[in-house]
Amino acid sequence: MSVGEEAPPSAAVRARPLVVSAVRQETVDAVTVTFEVPDDIANDFKYFPGQFVTVKVPSDQTGHVSRCYSLCSSPHIDDYSLEIGVKRTDGGYASNWICDNIEPGMEVMMLPPSGNFTPKSLDADLLLFAGGSGITPILSIIKSALIAGGGEVALFYANRDKVSAMYRDQLCLIADGFPERFALVEWFENDCGLPNSEVLDDMISRHAGSEIFTCGPAPFMDLVETCASNSDVSRQAIHREVFQSLAGDPFDGATVRRLAADEGTAMATVYLDGECIKVSWPRSAPLLDVLLSKGYNAPYSCREGACSACVCKLIEGDVDMVENHVLIEDDVTDGERLACQAIPLTDSVIVSFDDL
Ligand SMILES: Cc1cc2nc3c(=O)[nH]c(=O)nc-3n(C[C@H](O)[C@H](O)[C@H](O)COP(=O)(O)OP(=O)(O)OC[C@H]3O[C@@H](n4cnc5c(N)ncnc54)[C@H](O)[C@@H]3O)c2cc1C
Repeated sequence: MSVGEEAPPSAAVRARPLVVSAVRQETVDAVTVTFEVPDDIANDFKYFPGQFVTVKVPSDQTGHVSRCYSLCSSPHIDDYSLEIGVKRTDGGYASNWICDNIEPGMEVMMLPPSGNFTPKSLDADLLLFAGGSGITPILSIIKSALIAGGGEVALFYANRDKVSAMYRDQLCLIADGFPERFALVEWFENDCGLPNSEVLDDMISRHAGSEIFTCGPAPFMDLVETCASNSDVSRQAIHREVFQSLAGDPFDGATVRRLAADEGTAMATVYLDGECIKVSWPRSAPLLDVLLSKGYNAPYSCREGACSACVCKLIEGDVDMVENHVLIEDDVTDGERLACQAIPLTDSVIVSFDDL
């Protein structure tokens, strides 16, 4: 992948500075950071439960690194503040920097919320599987579904032990407040070993028909997925969020990368934020870069095909995705494409960011 021409200065770099209003020690190796959202950018920072922000963390060596953190606050309760929960990663740079250095009053650059790990309807019954810091997007989903939805919510939450479990007090309070609609099953590895298929099968059969969301270590999510598939849960009803560090720099929104050989241009018709946009699309460049370079506020985060923040729906024509580390076969069959990796295969392409 090579870096190509510079875009005009009008390129839509969507990063904004947010001020830290509070830092709370959550467990011995995790903090919750609260950011205030000023009124003038409140619209850009609206979010759905389960979405994440991308944070710019200073680094003496590289200037900065970019990392994604799921919002653990709920858009239905915590109106003008955003909360993230960051757990130290052994040997990791950004998580340790945040846990050691972040303090109230600090300004942090971040990209607006994005991602598609979010229930289509808060009225659906939800079966949630979280492991360790994977609780963050799940907590947002739980609070939102209980406050703004009408379905039943069940959580299986695995941790090493009680003291390392993030948001345990909050979850116990929620369980007391919603005894009819919220079921909490805690699992401590020090007492019971790693979660096994027997206990997960049991959860899945007791909550048949629920939409499944899982976030945690990869082997844990794999086991959830295997158990759900064995119980005939459809692939579309299983959603997983992978926590990984970004390799690239999504804050560098001002370049148009060249992903393929230059072979003329196609025409793109794009539905974005209720607008119908027509742009000429160089066949070598990803759709996202073309939109950003022309000043359109298209959603994105990683820009490396790994996070799904830029997902759009193909309505007509065809595109190739140079990299895809996140959409599964069913998503692609449903027409989902990653705009940061999409280059045109046909002369005319119609996509929508609005109707997913
Ligand atoms: C959508 C999304 C949501 C997320 N939400 C959360 C969240 O809510 N809470 C949370 O805590 N995390 C979350 N993450 C994970 C987060 O973005 C970071 O990946 C995490 O904090 C680790 O970053 P780090 O900089 O501390 O570690 P890194 O420096 O990226 O290191 C990660 C690992 O790689 C190893 N490593 C680093 N450099 C090298 C090297 N040169 N050679 C070999 N090994 C190396 C480290 O030892 C470490 O084990 C999320 C990720 C995504 C994609």
